[in-house]
Order: sequence, then C-alpha cells, then structure tokens
Amino acid sequence: MDRERGKRLSLRGLGRIVAEANAAKDLEEMLRVMVERIHQDMNVDVCSIYLTDARSGRHTLSATVGLRKEAVDQLVLGPKEGLIGWVASQMEPLNIGDCSHHPRFKYIPLVGEEDFNAFLGVPIIFQGALLGVLALQHRNSRPFTEQDVSFAFTLATQLASHIAFAQLTKTVVAPSTGESEGQWLDGVAAAPGIGIGTAVVLYELTAMHTIPDRIVTNTEAEKSAFVRALSAVEKELEVLSESHEGQPPQQRELLEAYSMILTSSELVDAVLESIEAGTWAPAALRTAVEELACKFDVMEDPYLCERGRDIRDLGRRVMDKLLEIEGGDVTYPQDTILVGKDLGPIDLIKVPKDRLRGVISERGSAFSHLAIVARTLGIAAVTGLGDLPLMQLDRREIIADGYRGRLYVNPNVTVCREFRRLAREEQKLSDFLEGFRDKQAITPDGEYVAVLVNAGLPEDLPLALNAGAEGVGLYRTELLFMTQGRFPTEDQQVVLYRRVLEAFHPRPVTFRTLDIGGDKPLPYFPIHETNPFLGWRGIRISLDHPEIFDTQLRALLRASEGFSNPKLLIPMISGVAELYQSLTHVDKVYEELRVEGRQLDKPVIGAMIEVPSAVYQADLFARHVDFLSIGTNDLTQYLLAVDRDNERVAKLFDALHPAVLQAIFHVIQCGERHQLPVTICGEAAGDPAATLLLLGMGAKNLSVNAGDIPKIKWLITKFPRSRAQELLRLALDMESSEAIRELLRNELDEAGFGALVHPGK
Ligand code: PEP
Ligand code: MG
Repeated sequence: MDRERGKRLSLRGLGRIVAEANAAKDLEEMLRVMVERIHQDMNVDVCSIYLTDARSGRHTLSATVGLRKEAVDQLVLGPKEGLIGWVASQMEPLNIGDCSHHPRFKYIPLVGEEDFNAFLGVPIIFQGALLGVLALQHRNSRPFTEQDVSFAFTLATQLASHIAFAQLTKTVVAPSTGESEGQWLDGVAAAPGIGIGTAVVLYELTAMHTIPDRIVTNTEAEKSAFVRALSAVEKELEVLSESHEGQPPQQRELLEAYSMILTSSELVDAVLESIEAGTWAPAALRTAVEELACKFDVMEDPYLCERGRDIRDLGRRVMDKLLEIEGGDVTYPQDTILVGKDLGPIDLIKVPKDRLRGVISERGSAFSHLAIVARTLGIAAVTGLGDLPLMQLDRREIIADGYRGRLYVNPNVTVCREFRRLAREEQKLSDFLEGFRDKQAITPDGEYVAVLVNAGLPEDLPLALNAGAEGVGLYRTELLFMTQGRFPTEDQQVVLYRRVLEAFHPRPVTFRTLDIGGDKPLPYFPIHETNPFLGWRGIRISLDHPEIFDTQLRALLRASEGFSNPKLLIPMISGVAELYQSLTHVDKVYEELRVEGRQLDKPVIGAMIEVPSAVYQADLFARHVDFLSIGTNDLTQYLLAVDRDNERVAKLFDALHPAVLQAIFHVIQCGERHQLPVTICGEAAGDPAATLLLLGMGAKNLSVNAGDIPKIKWLITKFPRSRAQELLRLALDMESSEAIRELLRNELDEAGFGALVHPGK
C-alpha cells in the first residue's frame, strides 16, 4: 500500500495534477479538480482548499472532497480562527495526529469532520502573499508521513501560481458594478498620467497562450483562413516526409502521426465549431489545441503523454500560418491602451500617436526603455503586473493609472468619473506649467541651469523641439536603428542626423553613439544572453564591430559639416582602454573624411558615466574628453545591483539611494576640478525630488524627457540654489533613500510644489 502511494506521489503525479488544474475553465473548476486529484493520488480521506481574502484575511472553504459539500462557500473562518487560521497566521505547515487536542482546534458542526483525527495543513503562498490553505485529513490518529508532508508542501508551491492566475482572471472578467472604488491590479508606476481607453493586446507570434479572444461576425472568412493555414502546414509535412525518404522509419512515422493529428476531426471540428459561434480563428485554434493537448498530458502511458507536446508544436505551426493569413495587422481604436507581455519602445512607436492613451506591460519597471519612451510621449504606463489573463483583456475598457501603478478593468461609472476628474486636473497643471516652457531656468539666487531634452525617436522630434529645451542633452541614436528593418546606411544616417542638427541649430545636440544590447535589441541583430545588462552592450558592441561603429561615426561627422552644434557621446565606458579605443576610431574617421576633402571641426566628445568603475575613473577620463554625462539609470542599476527592467526588484531601484547620490556628487565635483561640463541625463534629472539635490550639488546641465521640461524649469526658477545646498547636506547625512525622499517631499510640499509630488491626487 505504501509502495503504491509512493509511486503515485511522484514528480509525474505532481505534474499531472498541475496540468489538469491548469486546463480548468475557471477558478471554481480548478479548485474542484485539484481537491479531487489530490484526494485520489494521496489516498487521503479529506482534501480541502480554503481561500484567503486579501483584504479581510478571512478564509473560505472553497473546495472539498470528504467534508460536507454544503459547507463550500458557506464556511468562512476569521484570520486566526481554528487550525486553518493557525496555519495561515504562522505561514507554515501543521501536521498532527489528533486534531481535537490542539489548543486552536475549533469544532464546526456544519462541515461534518467529527470522524477525522489526523490533520495536515499547508499554506498556499504566492510571491510572499498568502492565498489560502491546503488541508488534508485522515480518520486514523497518526500524523501524516514525512513523504506526505513534503508532497503536499511541493504541491502547494506549484499550485499557488495557478490559483493566483485564476483569481486574477476572475477579477478581470467579472463585470465591475456598484459605486465602490472597483477592482484593480497593482503594478509599477512606470510613466505618470491617466489613460482611459480600449485595451489592444499585442500577442507574440511564438507564444500561443497570448493570442487574445476576439469576437468576429464574418465567420466564413475565418473558417476559410483556418482551412488554408491547415492545408499549408499539411503540405509542408508532406514535403518534409518526402525529403526523409531513406531516413530512419521513426521520423517518417512521426510525420505521418503529425498529419493524422492535423486532420483529426477532434481538432478540426472543435476549431470550426468555435468559429461558427463567433470566435476569431486564432483564438478558436488556441483553445482547441490546448484542450486536445491536455487530454494527452494527463495520460499514464509516457509515450501518449508526450503527444501533448507534439500537438502544441503542430498547433504553433498552424497558428503561424493563420496569423500570416490574417495579416497580423492591428487596428488601433481612437483611445488605445497597448497591452502585452513584454512590450518594448518600438511597440509604442507603431501606434499612431493621436490614438495612444497608455501602455500596460506585464514585465518591466519604471526605468526600462518602454517606460522612458512612454514618458517622452507623455502617456501613462503601468508595468510589472505579473501574469495577466491577456487573452481576456483584448478590447475591454481599461484605465491605466500611471501615478499609482494600477490597472482597472471594466471600470464602473464611479471609477471612470473619478479618473476623468484626475485627467482634467492633470490638464490644468500642464496648462499652468506651459507658462514656464520658454523661460530660462534661473534660480532666485541667480544661477542659470541649462534644461536640455532627451530625444531619439524620429517621431518625437517636433515634441522635443517644442518642449522649450535649450538643446538635446542626449540623443539616443539606437532608437533610430530600432525602427528600421536593417542597419541604416551611412547616407541614410547622415540625412537623419542633419535633420536633428538643423531643427535645433544653434542649440547643441549631443548624439550618443549606438547603445544597443541590454533591453534594446535590434530586431535584425539578435543577441541571446542570460545576463544582457552585464553582457555585450553599448560601446562593447561598437568596438567589436568597427564596420558598424565607423559607419556611424562617419555619418555623424559628415552630418556635422557646416554646423557648430553637434557633440558626440560614448556610452557604457567602463575603463580608460575603451575610451582610448573609441577616441582612436573617432580620430581615424575624422582623418579619413578630411582626406576626402570635407571641412570638419574637431568633434566635441564626451564620455558617459553610468558604470561604477567610471565614477572612480572620472578624473582620468576628464583628461581625454570635452565633457561628461551621468546616466543615472544605468548608474543606479549597476551600483545597487538592481536590474532596471525587473519589476520584482523595482522597489529597490532608487537614484536617491545614498550611494548613488555620493557617486553623482563625486562626478560633478570632478567636473568642477577639471572645469569640464557635466550633464545629468538619466531619469533622475526629471524627478523633482532628485533635481533639488542635483541643484545642491552644483549641476548646471540637466537633460530630461520633453514632458518634464516645464516642471523642472518651474522648480529651478522658484527654488534657491542655497536652499538646495542645505538640503543636500542633510540628505548626505541620511542612511536610506526613504528618509531622503521624505525630506525632499516635505520640502517640495512646503515650498508650494505639492502638485509635483502628489500628481493626480
Ligand atoms: C542612463 O543610463 O541613465 C541613460 C541616460 O541611458 P539609457 O537610459 O539610454 O541607458
Ligand atoms: Mg544608459
């Protein structure tokens, strides 16, 4: 008997339970499947799942085998009530032989547990939050075995993410009613603003599960698209099969099996029926493939079990064809909020600007380039929401609250009304700030600060031009490369760079050379690395690819001909050797162009300080360059060892961290010693709290996103440098970024800048 159980309590058994639970249609079915399977596989008398309400902390019996069914949804325990409350409050397993003797045991006549003595309760925890308790009971009075405990424990950890996802789906799909604040999901506040509109889910061609649900009326067209996709894959298989003549028979057999699956009525009929009922062909295919594959997943026979994988593989092939036939073109409604798994800057750029109201991305933090571009475009962004039921979100009404990092789905009238009010207030503030756009930023004690703009998207040139900037402090040339289908030629680059120089002339424009890698891949130059931010990035790629680097340098220098305003900036320098090599390339290209007869001034060159080693070598760099530029985004990332793109550690990413402040101050002082201009061009320069300290450090050049220019100018115009210096002294004495932020928030509040620190409230 024990051997029999041992066999069942295997990894495969566990995988099967998880797979079956995963295939369930909704939360209720998922919980029912879980308790039935566990009851059977673990051979226990009772298996129950209690779900914990996040706000009240109360536990509801949500599914059971062994206790009275009538008690489901009726039995609700207080946060610390009974043995369930004990497991929940301790957040650890409880395994006892005679539960009635436990001091926390509570007799509840409703459930009918009089006959059960042994009790094993395991908390179900997801990302640090308690979701509920898995409870097992036995008639006999012996505690559960070690093996049972470890199996239940492992099960609970595996089932947690599925339960969390199903709960989320329920929240998202449930219509929002009533006058309450409504349901929302918490993420990272990545770009300020309020976006109210229709969700457009961008699915990934390779990820079947991200295909969204859509309703269609022209079902005939959908059916024909599906049939065409199917026969295209069939043909491919035929060709493959023929080319395998003479190959081992297993390969042919496999291809034949594939063909049979493809034409099986089980798959084809399911898709056609679903389309007939009004579902978009890709969603119909997605569901049919998953349902069929799940049937194989749970089979005992390992050979048959593996077929689930084949079905998914085939499904993906048909899906690719289908999406090709469907055209893959996305239509963007008037008020589009882009939603996706791991969106990048390019996804945003593709949406017509007058239609885009916000962006929601499952992954990413406030310092990813998606967030930076959203800020540049002035749209709300919420990122880092974890797994979302993307399939159900497409074309739903949603609100992106970029101030608090919240996503509202199907908001009720009260919520909509409140957000429209906030959006109006936001508009009022920006109308007021408009008055500062064209003013120079001079502090009340007479110190001038140049407020420059960060730019890079060809589309945002007018935006950057009209933002009231005194030049471009950072032109991210890689964004231009990212919008193309291949490397732009030298001549194409010349045209683009000249356009920027002309537009801003005589104001300075700082072109940063290509900074790809990290979270900025080029679609036509894929880099696969496990640790891209510590990998092949920025200047490292340029130095390894002189053909790319020299072409860009030639284009930049050629574009400069006849202009007095260009500067060059080298990204990601981590040591003097890289700086030398970069300068050698610039010199070589400069000489080449002069030999070709071009009239060129010696280029003005700067180094970015965004890697910790560069901070400590700034004095050395200063001897070789004309200016320094501090990239606070990467500097914070590398100093604090916090991936700027990772939502899990987003809370730890703070440019106000005492170590980051010390580093920035060190570089600004170094600039002063060498009489070398220093620009601060990361996101910190546009954060009013950080700006105060930068002012105190003596910063004279701040480069910020277009939308931040008026508020930064307002702040500088009204805030004396002398007071900023006092604040800096206080801040440098503090131990944590929280304490520093608190100090600066209070200061901004008292000085009448409350609207900048509590926007949207
Ligand atoms: C920075 O790292 O602060 C910076 C300005 O560059 P990017 O954000 O493009 O990496
Ligand atoms: Mg950087």
